[in-house]
Amino acid sequence: MHGAAEPELGRPGLGRGPAVRVLPRLDDANRFFWTSGADGVLRFLRCDTCRCYVHPPGPVCPYCLRGELLPEAVSGRGTLHSFTVNYQPWIPGDGPYAIGLVAIAEQDDVRLMTNVVDCPEQALEVEMAVEVTFEQVEDVWLPLFRPAGRPRPTAAGA
Ligand SMILES: [Zn+2]
Repeated sequence: MHGAAEPELGRPGLGRGPAVRVLPRLDDANRFFWTSGADGVLRFLRCDTCRCYVHPPGPVCPYCLRGELLPEAVSGRGTLHSFTVNYQPWIPGDGPYAIGLVAIAEQDDVRLMTNVVDCPEQALEVEMAVEVTFEQVEDVWLPLFRPAGRPRPTAAGA
């Protein structure tokens, strides 16, 4: 079927993600992760014994089953392992947005399902370098990712 609802390929850019966010329920195990962006830094639990990063947060290191897990800052850089673009306006007025699986630079098997933002659709590419950018919604800082190495927007939005 062809019609006005067809996705417009090659459009200049994608939105910041879905218009309405379903927020995670914060608890003692995950609060550090969902509020980490308050200072602009992404953090994951890291094992003090085998030094592996662990995500999602849990009580025990799944790699060595021994170490204590403590939040530790990471670079915020990663690579886009896979992605898709959602065209379905689940909420009226919702624009297309990119859903990506991002592997963090520090450890390839630590991956986040997230949105890739500030990126033209035609520039999305598997293995592209990305960096974290946070979107605050209520008491949660959602870690989203944008193409790495581009100038950050100023506070004035210029
Ligand atoms: Zn461990």
